[in-house]
Amino acid sequence: MTPAPSAGPVADTGSTRQREVLIELVTLHARVLQRMPVVQALLVAGLALVFIDKVTAPVFASWAAFALGIEALRAVVATRVLRTLNSIDPTRVHRGFVVMAACAGAADGLAAVLFLPRLEVIDQAWLGVVLFAIPAAGVAVSMSSRYILGAFALAIIVPATVTWSMLHPEHRSVIALGLLYSGLLILVAAESERLLMRAVLIRQERDRVVRDLERSNAEVRAARTRAEDAAQARARVLAAASHDLRQPLHALSIYSAILAANPSAATLREVGENIDQIVRSLGHLLGGLLDLSRLSTGYLTPERRLFALDAECARICAEFRSLAEAKGLSLRADLPPTPLCGDQMMVGRIARNLIDNAIKYTDRGEVSISLSRIGDQAVLAVADTGKGIEPHEQQRIFEEFYQIDNPGRDRSRGVGLGLALVQRMAELIGATVSLESEPGRGSCFTVTLPDAAPEGGPASTSIAATLIPMPAGTRIYVVDDEQDILASTGTLLTLWGARVETASDVSAAVALFERFGPPALLIADLRLGGHEHGTALARRLRATWGEFPVLITTGETSSEALRETNAAGYPLMHKPITAERLREMIGRALEPAA
Ligand code: ADP
Repeated sequence: MTPAPSAGPVADTGSTRQREVLIELVTLHARVLQRMPVVQALLVAGLALVFIDKVTAPVFASWAAFALGIEALRAVVATRVLRTLNSIDPTRVHRGFVVMAACAGAADGLAAVLFLPRLEVIDQAWLGVVLFAIPAAGVAVSMSSRYILGAFALAIIVPATVTWSMLHPEHRSVIALGLLYSGLLILVAAESERLLMRAVLIRQERDRVVRDLERSNAEVRAARTRAEDAAQARARVLAAASHDLRQPLHALSIYSAILAANPSAATLREVGENIDQIVRSLGHLLGGLLDLSRLSTGYLTPERRLFALDAECARICAEFRSLAEAKGLSLRADLPPTPLCGDQMMVGRIARNLIDNAIKYTDRGEVSISLSRIGDQAVLAVADTGKGIEPHEQQRIFEEFYQIDNPGRDRSRGVGLGLALVQRMAELIGATVSLESEPGRGSCFTVTLPDAAPEGGPASTSIAATLIPMPAGTRIYVVDDEQDILASTGTLLTLWGARVETASDVSAAVALFERFGPPALLIADLRLGGHEHGTALARRLRATWGEFPVLITTGETSSEALRETNAAGYPLMHKPITAERLREMIGRALEPAA
């Protein structure tokens, strides 16, 4: 490092590091300068004691005032620098310190010029020793600036040695000695300048490490909080779920005892209806829990398909119309053509849950469903004139199993999973859900969906047209290792007019293909008991027999096989599967590819 003299110890002060070193240096120097008047006063007092009867008092007093005045000035400047550290230009301040160091040195050097000629040889030697010692102490005061030290030392040594050599011409070499001594001191100061630089570098590195540590600590803390929240949420869900499962199971066991006791026909009918109701609500609960689990495990990958959101909403409105009418509510739908690219099933379920709630929590007035567009976003709004939601509940109703006003957990009033699922599905498809509600006046849930397609997307299809009819005699193979499921699905599909063949394991499925050839549709369970799962079987059969539509059913929520199914692009149906859902999925699978 070869700094330009004017720039101070660090030449290229452009860089942050060099600026920092310079600030460090002027700070340290300024702190020492604040104490220098005291040191100078001691020196003046010492010299006064020795020389007071050898030099004239006015000369000594003038010199002492000059020397003390300069130190006082340096201390005042240093104090101001320390007060304004954040805004100083360290290069300029350093330059100022160099000039002041030269003046302070010159004040001491002046002592040699003024006093040496008036002293005896022994006192001259004594003063010489003192004046040579002062620059050595200056190494500490200059605080690693060779420029401050150099200016200070030379301003003392040059006048002192020149005066000495004039008084003792035979000892002229003392000038060279003095200069050599000053050079040595400057080298020492340069060495501590390097040390200071290293110290600053180490401190910068330490600060960086501390900052990194603090950042990663914060990340760890956030992750731990998330994990704790998730654990708490899981515990809450489990507690609520086990309660909600135990109650209906208890009721079922009582009903089965009643059935065993040969009840009358009237009781039988009543029990039958109640059992049907219980099984339905159990199905809802299990369905909700499974959805939640699938949404949490990340195995649910949203589809991206162009569909008519207006037609989907119209179909859902049609499903709910009779329910709304039964409560005396009018169901209004304002559904301009809204083509959307996304997951039709998830968007449909979000809309269904919101409309279901709107009807459930509204006693009079109307429920309205509307669609609009903002840029490339589609906005679905479900508004009602129902009981509304208190502001402090508006966040909490999106939590799992959270219900307002249902302390007895009456299952006929829902299980408290609807909005949690709405929220999770919305997150998964990149949508946002917002709520505006006023107690007693109604609520409006707004879902903002990304990727509305440009006008002229898929034409809105009528509700009737979306239920693709299944041609009579459609050949469907069902593969499942659960005999009950095999039998019930077979019966249902036959009722719908299909020609159904069933197989309970992989080899029976292969035998079906060998006997009847490929089907119009294969419905396979994911877990088949053997080594090969449903998706692998379907792949193998398609490789041998050519392309045919496949539907995979499963009760699993996370497994490698599930991931494989998603990757293969086979539509997946999670059990329990309602008849309507099965029919819808078969319809879609049989739809000729666009
Ligand atoms: P559930 O409807 O099964 O109780 P949700 O998660 O769908 O569960 O809703 C949670 C709670 O939010 C409900 O218990 C209900 O009190 C409140 N809520 C949801 N939608 C509405 C609405 N449209 N109007 C008034 N309250 C509602």
